[in-house]
Amino acid sequence: MEKTFKFAGVLGWPVAHSRSPVIHNFWIREHGLQAAYGLFPVKSDALDDAVRGLRSLGIAGCNVTIPHKVAIMSLLDVVDPLARRMGAVNTVVAGSDGALTGYNFDGYGYLQSLRDAKPDWRATDGPITVLGAGGAARAVVLSLLDEGASRIRLLNRTRGKAEALAAEFGAAVEVHDWSVRAEAIADVALLINTTNQGMHGQPALDLPLNRLPRSALVSDVIYIPLETPLLAAARARGNVTVNGLGMLLNQARRGFELWFGVKPSINAALRAALAATF
Ligand code: NAP
Repeated sequence: MEKTFKFAGVLGWPVAHSRSPVIHNFWIREHGLQAAYGLFPVKSDALDDAVRGLRSLGIAGCNVTIPHKVAIMSLLDVVDPLARRMGAVNTVVAGSDGALTGYNFDGYGYLQSLRDAKPDWRATDGPITVLGAGGAARAVVLSLLDEGASRIRLLNRTRGKAEALAAEFGAAVEVHDWSVRAEAIADVALLINTTNQGMHGQPALDLPLNRLPRSALVSDVIYIPLETPLLAAARARGNVTVNGLGMLLNQARRGFELWFGVKPSINAALRAALAATF
């Protein structure tokens, strides 16, 4: 039977604070679609059942967040090669035959957020320092390498995690000790915080900026708050800054287009609707 109403949602635990429903329901209203986007709060022990449920209910697809981004891969029919390289899925799309395909649009969202802020940005503009070595760092580093970056310094509080990540990526990624982070930003074209430091409820990232070139682009993948102490300090000294909201919004565009067949755009009204939730 033909489906006239499409459902999508965000699958994770916890998901109550996810901003994805605000984004997707804004676009659904904007385009007058017969569709809705909701929360799918699912604990790890129920993930198998939930994926079977996506199939049997004919859900158009879902975003996937903590703690399922890795575990869901083995439950899908197809995992896109880029998601496979990222080792994580953040978007699932049901095909017309019901087959579920997993994608990862975090890296795309990240790169697009830089271009939105600085249209002439290039990964080859100069050395790049990435702080953190978790899931967000993996997506950011992989997408920068795919974009042609040839000098990425990776620093993480737990050095072994940075080394494990760098070992997968080859010679373009060098690991430096967390203790030399102030020096590791002295000649960068791009500085990225992918740690959780500066996020609401967390202390500010402990990083003196006195050696940072004023020409460097400073990006933080955090979006709550929109301006982390790192970005506020960088902006105050004249650096161009990029917050994590653009990454979230741009990755969302890709899933929306695949589920609902409409390419949505990011406008001031959407940003205002989101800002009202912070
Ligand atoms: P994760 O895998 O848990 O990694 C957390 C990172 O933070 C690790 O590198 C960890 O270092 C570091 N860290 C934690 N406490 C620290 C401290 N006291 N000092 C220094 N480093 C510390 O998390 P994730 O998934 O990568 O997420 C990281 C951030 O990215 C979160 O704020 C998340 O909201 C944000 N994010 C944003 C988007 C977006 O769309 N904008 C997408 C994904 C994630 P250790 O290895 O030493 O523990």
